[in-house]
Amino acid sequence: MSEQRHTAARSWRLILPLALVVAGVIAAIIFQPDAGHPPPESPQAKTSPAFEDFARVPVVPPQPVVPEVEAPAEEAASPPPENGLALIMDDVGYDRQALQRLLALKIPVAISVLPDAPLARQSAEMAHQAGQLVMLHLPMEPENAYLSHHMSDAFLYTGMDEQRLRQVFEDDLAQVPFVEGVNNHMGSRLTQQPEPMQWVMDLCREHGLFFVDSRTHRDSVAAQAARDAGIAWASRRLFLDHRTDPQSLQEAWEKAVLCAEHQRCILIAHPHAETLQFLESVFGEGKKYPMVELKQFLHPAASS
Ligand SMILES: [Zn+2]
Repeated sequence: MSEQRHTAARSWRLILPLALVVAGVIAAIIFQPDAGHPPPESPQAKTSPAFEDFARVPVVPPQPVVPEVEAPAEEAASPPPENGLALIMDDVGYDRQALQRLLALKIPVAISVLPDAPLARQSAEMAHQAGQLVMLHLPMEPENAYLSHHMSDAFLYTGMDEQRLRQVFEDDLAQVPFVEGVNNHMGSRLTQQPEPMQWVMDLCREHGLFFVDSRTHRDSVAAQAARDAGIAWASRRLFLDHRTDPQSLQEAWEKAVLCAEHQRCILIAHPHAETLQFLESVFGEGKKYPMVELKQFLHPAASS
């Protein structure tokens, strides 16, 4: 008996440390967050560019038991460019031929469609079919008194409660298929107001949409609200066609090209006849410009 007990005790002295190590490894696997499980995905992660996911890859210490086979593949994805020109065409939905001419340029251009435009749905379908990004050009109250007295039912405006604002947003969104992001149409008054902007960004988050601040007022809080809401976002840098005479267009374009040499430059244009003619001449010359897809220039959604 005593010999057996002695042997058993000796065995335990050998087995116990081993058992503790095994238990420790098992506990480490069980209690380590994310081990073996990808992090929970927010809705916008599905529509975000590859670099957003790259930032979300959890740092996992070396694990002999559960090797991380997916991490190297994520790391191989090329990072977004640090400079270049991303073009957004606003106010789309009124002129089918203008959109056809724009799509025929075969450059990356985000097509931002007005929800109450007569050809809203058709325009979004054309853009999508041409492989371009579709956005909702969300009408918001401007400061200009004349314009603010001529707002359609598609506009979000000051004094709307959250429920009403939600209803209009949903109605607008329902008019435009294939939408992946939103930017404001007008909005020089509404984008200065934190509370409605927060509601807008909450809605974008719920629908997995990014937001681009068109910056129609220098005190716009839209970009900040988007950041706070944890969605992917960006800000407009330049307008191409604030003035549509040939010299002004040329000057604005040169400014944009210069900006794009060193920065991520987001340029907004409108489907004016002069603008289309200008773009056709610019891209018809055979010169190369550093055109980048808008989604490459989005600030990633906050991971919290
Ligand atoms: Zn607009």
